[in-house]
Amino acid sequence: MTALLRAEDLWKSFDDRAVLQGVSVELAAHEVVAVIGASGSGKSTLLRCLSLLEPIDDGRILLGDDDISDPRVDANRVRSRFGVVFQSYNLFPHMSVLDNVTLASRVVRKEAKKDAEARALLLLDRVGLADKAREHPDRLSGGQQQRAAIVRAIATDPEVLLLDEITSALDPELVGEVLELVRQLAEDGATILMATHEMAFARDVAHRVVFLDGGRIVEQGPPAELFGAPREARTREFLARFT
Ligand code: ADP
Ligand code: MG
Repeated sequence: MTALLRAEDLWKSFDDRAVLQGVSVELAAHEVVAVIGASGSGKSTLLRCLSLLEPIDDGRILLGDDDISDPRVDANRVRSRFGVVFQSYNLFPHMSVLDNVTLASRVVRKEAKKDAEARALLLLDRVGLADKAREHPDRLSGGQQQRAAIVRAIATDPEVLLLDEITSALDPELVGEVLELVRQLAEDGATILMATHEMAFARDVAHRVVFLDGGRIVEQGPPAELFGAPREARTREFLARFT
């Protein structure tokens, strides 16, 4: 496998707490990888470190041919190669959905407003949000907001999408519409690393599942193997909570 994104032996501490303890993970182009693990296991920290939202203490991160963990890189430029969606509070509340979606294209890519908006409207239309383009986020349901946040994340054609428990804050009846959009992106060939507690979805959509426990990868493999026949006791214990 030639990796599009490759993290080698990542270490990260907050104060004296080692949150990532030698995590190595790879993501091939068009691959969908789900990161599962208990709350506090380091999933968000891993995603934040990969996208340079958080500095690592040690290790190496390669994106394509570039060592993006090199302190000399232009971090803002690297960040724009990732599309990131968090659990909540993704959209700027004081801007319309359309302005949210086009902001990065206009500011980072210096794209003309007219072009950025035309493309954004196409994307919003694709996810059924064309009629919300001029609304502020607080006029949208949580599910619509997360779909808009995903549209914003993909509007700049990022190389990798990092999704951090994007359905965890949603009312249960709104989870499906957001996961359906992720499924579509996966089918369209997006490269996705997602932290999730949606085991059924991970089983269904991910090509590979990584189980993180205490800042270490305990086990990883195809979903049928990891969910169907986990090798490690800790994986079995963790998965038992979801059945
Ligand atoms: P997960 O996403 O799997 O729930 P996190 O990566 O959010 O786990 O957190 C892992 C550990 O790191 C937790 O103990 C958390 O309290 C700690 N942590 C995360 N971010 C920070 C931070 N900015 N400052 C201090 N501790 C943090
Ligand atoms: Mg988290």
